[in-house]
Amino acid sequence: MTHRPPRPHPPPGGLLDWGHSSHWSREARPCRYCGRPTNLRDSKGKAAHKCCAEAALAQQVADAADAYENEGHLT
Ligand SMILES: [Zn+2]
Repeated sequence: MTHRPPRPHPPPGGLLDWGHSSHWSREARPCRYCGRPTNLRDSKGKAAHKCCAEAALAQQVADAADAYENEGHLT
């Protein structure tokens, strides 16, 4: 019987809270994910649509879960 570490979990509902003004810029820049212009910024100040960032976050969580399943650690 093997003990597995707890899996990472996405935020509740898988949605990010980008209501704060720090996530908004008056200058539209290409989204880091899809390349289309956006006024939104992610938590690192990079241009990104909220929906694109949420999709990327969900993918990261899925990848992290896979890493736990396959290797037992994150790389
Ligand atoms: Zn986008």
